[in-house]
Amino acid sequence: MTSTAGVVVVGGGQAAFSVVSTLRASGYDAPVTVFAAEPHLPYQRPPLSKAAHTEPDGLRVELVPESFYRERNIDLRLGDHVVALDTAAATVVSRTGARVPYAHLVLATGARNRPLPVPGAELDGVHALRSVDDALTIGRALTTARDVVVVGGGFIGLELARVALTRGARVTVVELADRLLSRAVSRELELPLRERHEHAGVRVLTGTGVRALEGPGRVERVVTDREVLPADLVVYGIGAIPRDDLAREAGLAVDDGVVVDEQLRSVTDSRISAVGDCARHPHPNVEGLVRLESVQNAIDQGTLVGRRIAGSPASYESLPWFWSDQGDLKLQIAGLRSPSDEVRLVPGDSPERLAGYAFRDGLLVAVETLNWPAEHLAARRLLERRTPILAGDLAGPTLGALARARRAAEVRA
Ligand SMILES: Cc1cc2nc3c(=O)[nH]c(=O)nc-3n(C[C@H](O)[C@H](O)[C@H](O)COP(=O)(O)OP(=O)(O)OC[C@H]3O[C@@H](n4cnc5c(N)ncnc54)[C@H](O)[C@@H]3O)c2cc1C
Repeated sequence: MTSTAGVVVVGGGQAAFSVVSTLRASGYDAPVTVFAAEPHLPYQRPPLSKAAHTEPDGLRVELVPESFYRERNIDLRLGDHVVALDTAAATVVSRTGARVPYAHLVLATGARNRPLPVPGAELDGVHALRSVDDALTIGRALTTARDVVVVGGGFIGLELARVALTRGARVTVVELADRLLSRAVSRELELPLRERHEHAGVRVLTGTGVRALEGPGRVERVVTDREVLPADLVVYGIGAIPRDDLAREAGLAVDDGVVVDEQLRSVTDSRISAVGDCARHPHPNVEGLVRLESVQNAIDQGTLVGRRIAGSPASYESLPWFWSDQGDLKLQIAGLRSPSDEVRLVPGDSPERLAGYAFRDGLLVAVETLNWPAEHLAARRLLERRTPILAGDLAGPTLGALARARRAAEVRA
């Protein structure tokens, strides 16, 4: 180990873990320091919204045990957050007063929940979900809640709605847009997805705004612009805001996320990288820049930056993919769809399976599936290889069948 400045990572989540584990796996032997604002070992967030957790023991989400960091000489500073970047001196300053110099700085600060901008949002019984601690609070509240109102029909809201249903609560999802998952899923697939949630017992109110939450200290009612809903628990998930304040204050380019180049280096200062939910980056599948909030993106970007710092640079071109488990519905997405893409909905080989193929200029660019993991995997394999798939290629066979046929043809050739 040398005594020179090494890598400092700000953030102790999925992307930060990916950076530091890749650095050491790639033979990087200078100092590695991680500042993690939360007191917990780096952990995965997806399980937090997919079951009700009431006891910390039931919530084993940490990515690796503490010994992993110790054995690799990774200086993990839990519960200490970075409050300033001194880019001129290439040093970070933490809340506890630590000043740590860096040769490379990686911002992996994630995102925070968008606050609910209505009167009463501060009442007891009103929660948002991002951390382990939030998950435990909501899980415990669900043991007694009878009337649950979920504000926001996005992934986290719908996952929590189904969790609340299994706990015996009456559940209403209130969504301002005219449909669920409007940013992430095509209108074509949203319709059957919504029907399935309603069939399971979730009441869905789209095109409905929340005006106020009311109650004497504790929430009792949600006033919407259509009706007043009884509520003893309100959970809201109305989007996330990237944590890019440190970068902005340090004078780095920021635009709803830290703006980085194709190797994920700040466009202002190439000694600084940004990865995961906080990064806005170019991607071959989109015009302009994009910011993605997914485990795949956090892991792949962290890996890319870890390898680059260790001496193997590359451009970020990973195929985006995502999953969301909403009760008995497994929604999976491969590729990036844009609102103008044409989507063809195709039934699977059993009634619960569905796929939406998204075409741009006649070429397949993304695939959404419901309860059809094999088709999702086939989509990922084919889209990753960037072999063109035309709308006509899918006028009958599934992607799974197409992938098998193409593999067989390759073997024969
Ligand atoms: C409830 C929930 C469910 C999800 N489910 C899915 C899913 O099913 N599938 C999927 O693909 N994705 C899912 N996601 C998204 C996925 O978890 C995120 O995209 C991923 O965690 C992003 O990783 P990250 O490291 O960029 O950010 P995070 O994991 O959020 O980590 C960032 C960390 O940085 C810390 N930090 C911030 N500022 C500072 C500072 N100044 N100093 C020190 N530390 C700081 C934060 O406290 C935080 O712990 C879910 C997210 C949530 C919240």
